[in-house]
Amino acid sequence: MAILVQKFGGTSVSTPERRQQVIAKISAATKAGYSPVVVVSALGRRGESYATDTLLNLARQECPSIDSRELDMIMACGEIVAGVIVVGALKNAGFDAVFLSGQQAGIITTMKHGDAQIVEIKPVNVLKHVAEGKIVVVAGFQGATESGEITTLGRGGSDTTATAMGAAVAAAAVEIYTDVNGIMTADPRIVPAASTIESCTYEEAHQLALHGAKVIHPRAVEIAWRHNVPLKVKCTFTDEAGTTISSKAEGTIERLRDRAVVGIAHETDYGVLTLKDANSDAFAGAGRLLGKMASVGVDADHIQVSKRDMEVAASAANIETIAALGQEIGMKSAEQVGSRISLVGGSANSVSGLADTFIELLQRERIALLQTSTEPYAISGIVDKKDMTAAIQALHGRLFESQRTADRPDDGHGR
Ligand code: ADP
Ligand code: ASP
Ligand code: MG
Repeated sequence: MAILVQKFGGTSVSTPERRQQVIAKISAATKAGYSPVVVVSALGRRGESYATDTLLNLARQECPSIDSRELDMIMACGEIVAGVIVVGALKNAGFDAVFLSGQQAGIITTMKHGDAQIVEIKPVNVLKHVAEGKIVVVAGFQGATESGEITTLGRGGSDTTATAMGAAVAAAAVEIYTDVNGIMTADPRIVPAASTIESCTYEEAHQLALHGAKVIHPRAVEIAWRHNVPLKVKCTFTDEAGTTISSKAEGTIERLRDRAVVGIAHETDYGVLTLKDANSDAFAGAGRLLGKMASVGVDADHIQVSKRDMEVAASAANIETIAALGQEIGMKSAEQVGSRISLVGGSANSVSGLADTFIELLQRERIALLQTSTEPYAISGIVDKKDMTAAIQALHGRLFESQRTADRPDDGHGR
């Protein structure tokens, strides 16, 4: 029987009522003739009793300098609690179900605590239970090294468990169930008028995720892409079709031709760091700093080195670490922090038109841009954090809502 991997996020499994809706999705998969392999996240979000952040805070309150090894062990408990509870709910509904931790499910990872990568999945146990007709529930976000050390896959990493498991068991498809209707043209918490992207390519979904669309983890998309696993993002609480992600999504050609943007992504806390080496030219300092960054495993999205100075763009958390590493080797740094907003799409390499829209629109809204940058698949700008919502809403209005109100005279703002 074909396997369908169904992943349910923290909000989806957070209450008994919501778990009933999870059971309904699993039940529908069995009725459609699939053997479901279910991946779960920890129950609820920040502030809730068994959420990942609650467990992290518990350990850090006891010991602020606790090792990442122990943090991984406490974080892994969140998905274990969720898995047992979901198996309980499945049993109550009359299903035969079994729970497997990441390690029991054969998920082998690198040794990098807090951000491990899956090296291999040996799905023997999973397939054995599937063959016995059981619904297998697997803990998301966790695995173990060859030597048995428990690891986690980086925040939001249950999505990665799902697509990697999908590839390992040659699943017919992977469905990522969450609390919104799919991948949308912007975060609906910021833009209530955002609409669901019906279909997009792996590349488009990957770029949106890389630029901060938290609805799916970029590594999850990468794995599905590499193994050509059909991928969907859907809502646990509705019957909407969601977003279908594949290599040849409908509408992509039109988007490319029309220079259209597929969506707007953002990172709330983002920064740009300018570093100068007091003793030698910037290239020498950069070489030493990049070596240090690699050794501690801190990365940046953009690095530019000139004779005069070095510029690094990264999440605010990484910027702090990089500034501290620079200081250790005598580099002076100045940082600009804010929120990064990115227009993502196949047309972003026709830079001028889109960059013009970006800059002009924000100027019209009297929103100051601290910096802009272009990449083959995206144009990004950093704005002051207080301006983030207004900037995203203005850009969304122009790029996505103006068509819907095309019969109204354009006031220049497109909304
Ligand atoms: P889960 O716990 O189900 O994994 P997440 O919180 O990780 O859920 O991801 C879902 C959230 O992602 C949504 O509630 C939404 O606010 C946010 N989000 C950010 N960008 C987007 C986007 N482009 N499309 C849909 N949701 C987005
Ligand atoms: N529970 C983990 C987190 O909060 C993993 C996930 O939700 O995907 O990051
Ligand atoms: Mg998530």
